[in-house]
Amino acid sequence: MTIEVISQQKIDELRAAGNLPSPGGVALAIMEKTQQEGVTVQEIALLIQSDPALAGRLIKYANSASMGGRRPVAAVPDAVHRVGLSAVRHLVLGFSLISSSHYAPCPGFDYPMFWARSLATAIANRTLSLQTRASADEAFASGLLCEIGKLALAGLYPDSFGQVLDDASKGMKSLVELENEHYAIDHRAITFTLLKDWGFPNIFLETAYHHDDPDAGKFEQGSRPYYLIHGLHLATCLADACLVDDDARRNLLPLLFAKAARLGIEADELVALCDRIKLEWREWGNLLGIPTQHLLSFSNLASAPNEITAPQPLPGAVPLLNPLRILAIDDDPILRTLLEKLLVLKGYQVKVARDGREGLRLAIDFAPQIIITDWKMPEMDGLVMCQALRGSEEGERVYIILLTAQETEDSLVEAFDAGVDDYIVKPFNKRVLMARLHAGERIVRLHEALARKELELRGVAADLAITVRQLHDLAMKDPLTRLPNRRHGLERLEQEWAFANRRQNRSLSVLLLDIDKFKRINDQHGHGVGDEVLRHVAKMLERSARSEDLSCRLGGEEFLVICPETGLRAAQSVAERIRQAIEVADLPTAAGVLRVTASIGVAERTPEIASPAELVRLADEAMYAAKNSGRNRVVAIRGTGMV
Ligand code: GH3
Ligand code: MG
Ligand code: MG
Repeated sequence: MTIEVISQQKIDELRAAGNLPSPGGVALAIMEKTQQEGVTVQEIALLIQSDPALAGRLIKYANSASMGGRRPVAAVPDAVHRVGLSAVRHLVLGFSLISSSHYAPCPGFDYPMFWARSLATAIANRTLSLQTRASADEAFASGLLCEIGKLALAGLYPDSFGQVLDDASKGMKSLVELENEHYAIDHRAITFTLLKDWGFPNIFLETAYHHDDPDAGKFEQGSRPYYLIHGLHLATCLADACLVDDDARRNLLPLLFAKAARLGIEADELVALCDRIKLEWREWGNLLGIPTQHLLSFSNLASAPNEITAPQPLPGAVPLLNPLRILAIDDDPILRTLLEKLLVLKGYQVKVARDGREGLRLAIDFAPQIIITDWKMPEMDGLVMCQALRGSEEGERVYIILLTAQETEDSLVEAFDAGVDDYIVKPFNKRVLMARLHAGERIVRLHEALARKELELRGVAADLAITVRQLHDLAMKDPLTRLPNRRHGLERLEQEWAFANRRQNRSLSVLLLDIDKFKRINDQHGHGVGDEVLRHVAKMLERSARSEDLSCRLGGEEFLVICPETGLRAAQSVAERIRQAIEVADLPTAAGVLRVTASIGVAERTPEIASPAELVRLADEAMYAAKNSGRNRVVAIRGTGMV
């Protein structure tokens, strides 16, 4: 299998450039925590609660129909229990990526479309998991993220990636070819690397990498990877089918049937699966604020008379915007039917109820954005229902239009007091109803946009604390070896210096280590192997130095070890131990097992030495003396004379 994996250096470069998709701080903390052994639901719930937006989505997910519609949960720990820890991990990753990339800056990249397709792929892949023998949660997550590299490229190269996508759609060259030409990297390799970074099992990295061309993966027919990759491939094709209009979708059916057949799925079985996917896609779209579109059911499509033509490349996708959910309540069956027909015809999602009590129940299940309700009804009248809704968190935001037979001053005041937003006098005129609905829709959309912004802001605040910590790490650590960097090392030396100064007779020594003939390793084996050697040496330093010592990378192949409360002789023996450990170590690298040696200079603080910088300079002198006397040795300096 040929997978072009990105070098660590390239990843570090991309990271440094910013804009790589990354789970927000809270999500990251949750992902790390869920991987630890013995972690409790309570601990995870605590983390989730620090991000209210996330907590809300998780509770909604736990209560969604796809979880089996059991008794609703209202608390985060219950939601975690119901969903399960590994699913929480994947959901949190997905939610966090979706919400953090809503407003990213690449003009040619259609973000809503990207997530609508990713979401459909996720749901399709999970729906197929029974047939593909995948774990449902992993199937969902790998479907959601199998093209995340594209999002990464949009963030990394916002000015040009739109053009690259456009060129690819003209078909002269493939997207992968064009990406490699422009950026010396392609979205598959980035996807692979990001998924790896997020701890996905290898098999999912490979299937994500090859899913566009599943036969290139060369997996043995009937093996588990074979099923996984063909399943993911089919899931992306089903997602494409969700994004086009009904005619185009009908034309895609034969192709989908053929692909399903490779997994042993028969045509009518696939049609049934597709209808489940279509429903869930809508439900999840609502949950996550991702636009989806209303589709004719696949079973209708498959059975409708049509002239099936050869499968064609995907035509332009239709624009997406979730139609509004409207609940209409009236005890008069004729009026109810009239309302329902009218609203469905206008493209809304509609549910109807006969009285206030039924309306209230539907309002909780269906979560309508607008309610049109009659006033006088048996069981529970419109105003009582309205008051009940306004007392609940969910009902607070619904836009309520009252149908009323009377327009007296008193009755209107009563209605507005009960919490209605608008009213229409019966018998109503269709045009007026539609005009009032549009006004309501505008308010609903504004509210939703505000609510999303608010959630995002709260999420941002929670992330910030963690980002600050990460930035601090970044500023203090050398990215290659993960040792403290030069700045951090010298700062610590200043502190130790001040500490030793305040307490008479406290000693302080430093070691300066430089790898011998290191340039040769780069020249013979390449920079990558050089980097590996540097990482090995850094590890050995940490291991061989004492716990109170601080090792850092000064730069290049030079390291500094600060030894507090240590006299020259003791420091010399620490240095000698390090030198020996390096000398005898077999370093496994891409170029085979290598060995290196190092020269170490040792210096101790004495009253004549004026500053930490001078102490380091003396250690450096000693190190050069070690080089000059044959390398692979320790030389110590006291005052101005070598020892
Ligand atoms: P000497 O025994 O005299 O110290 O010889 P040397 O070859 O180790 O010393 P020199 O200073 O001539 O070469 C150091 C080399 O280290 C040169 C530079 O390319 C390489 N280098 C510096 N930083 C890095 C790095 O981050 N990664 C790699 N792979 N090489 C590095
Ligand atoms: Mg060197
Ligand atoms: Mg050097």
